[in-house]
Amino acid sequence: MSTSADVLIIGAGLAGLCCAKRLTEAGITFQIVEASDGIGGRVRTDEVDGFLLDRGFQVLLTAYPEARKILDYSRLDLKSFSPGALSWFAGRMNPIVDPWRMPGMWREALRSDFGTLGDKLRMARLRSRLKHSSIEDIFKRPERSTKDTLKSEGFNQEMIHRFFRPFLGGILLDGELKTTSRMFEFVFKMLSEGSTSVPARGMGAIPAQIAEKLSNDSICLNSRVESLHENEITLAGGESMRGRAIVVAADGPSAAHLVGEAEPASRSVSCFYYAAEEPPVPRPMLTLNGDGAGPVNNFAVMSQVAPSYAPRGNQLISVSVLGTQELTEAQLSGFVIAQMKNWFGVVARSWRLLKSYKIPHAQPQQYPGALEPAERSVRVRPGIYVCGDHRDNASIQGAMRSGHRAAEAVIKDFAR
Ligand SMILES: Cc1cc2nc3c(=O)[nH]c(=O)nc-3n(C[C@H](O)[C@H](O)[C@H](O)COP(=O)(O)OP(=O)(O)OC[C@H]3O[C@@H](n4cnc5c(N)ncnc54)[C@H](O)[C@@H]3O)c2cc1C
Repeated sequence: MSTSADVLIIGAGLAGLCCAKRLTEAGITFQIVEASDGIGGRVRTDEVDGFLLDRGFQVLLTAYPEARKILDYSRLDLKSFSPGALSWFAGRMNPIVDPWRMPGMWREALRSDFGTLGDKLRMARLRSRLKHSSIEDIFKRPERSTKDTLKSEGFNQEMIHRFFRPFLGGILLDGELKTTSRMFEFVFKMLSEGSTSVPARGMGAIPAQIAEKLSNDSICLNSRVESLHENEITLAGGESMRGRAIVVAADGPSAAHLVGEAEPASRSVSCFYYAAEEPPVPRPMLTLNGDGAGPVNNFAVMSQVAPSYAPRGNQLISVSVLGTQELTEAQLSGFVIAQMKNWFGVVARSWRLLKSYKIPHAQPQQYPGALEPAERSVRVRPGIYVCGDHRDNASIQGAMRSGHRAAEAVIKDFAR
């Protein structure tokens, strides 16, 4: 494979695509080399029997500053979750409504016996504190675990166990709440200041929109890079390519292998998709396992949020199971359905498994210390740059921002 591009970008995930977009604007030529058969990396959507299946439950927090800059939200036709959540415990679904986001729900919020009035006020105080903090400030604060921060904010054990553990577990993929408080505060700020959404055509519409601005022949799929040496990369088939600069925009473990760094630890998750005739919950809300029993951490009826996720007359249910599972798909799905039968009755037995995804590296693990500094250098050695969510924070925002930073570093170094 020959190329006359200035820059070789390894990986067509959000980081690689955002890097490419910025280089295009600066008039610098590039070639993206991607191992898989499509763009988007961890943000892809498959179509199965007319259902849209994101590769793992994930959402766009519309307040992400980088996403706001790069994406045209109106063309993504975003569909949003209702604020708040439902939590299963004590043998029933307990709503936790967010009256600040749903002003018509104040009465229900005050009447709800889930979370004391004190918890609601603490939530408001936390929201207000974070509203008045910049993202930069949040990522510079002294840090500790998310759980310790929640305790110091005064939340009681029940609120932490029944709400924050599964809620943040579903977002940070960390049911133990050991993730750095900086990440928790950043995510909480983003949740408070925008919507929790998915594009009508699935999360894969996000990378697709960024790639629209790149020329077709600038992305080479099904091409795994085996190694890199100075300004040369070698593909799995033995071919090599040279560029003035190389940007490694691979996921953390792959990037570490390519540039010879220690492999970062990962958070894992499995996601099961089921077709159902009726939605088992009344609102498009995230539903949480508040009693902690059983494999399911969180659950959402995606077709309630975005009807286009399922063919007419059908519902699409997404179920997340945290961690690495040794069981087969059939065994784990059996346990999932048994738990859902406990929650929703025998109707759960009629749900049809469409597909499941086991994702060993879903996000980099970000315990205290991992975001110190929050934006780690994208320059590895002369001519070699690295970007990806492992260089910033584990999110769509972090991946996009790191890609932009890598491009800026290349532009600056080329101008010298
Ligand atoms: C299940 C799940 C849920 C998530 N939930 C959320 C959420 O709700 N909100 C949020 O903001 N974020 C969420 N995230 C995180 C977010 O998706 C990622 O942080 C982001 O997509 C990472 O983008 P990236 O470009 O850094 O890496 P990736 O998307 O991993 O892209 C790297 C690319 O490099 C390619 N590659 C790797 N090695 C090579 C090689 N040797 N040669 C060529 N190509 C290679 C890969 O195939 C891949 O396409 C979630 C992630 C997962 C998996």
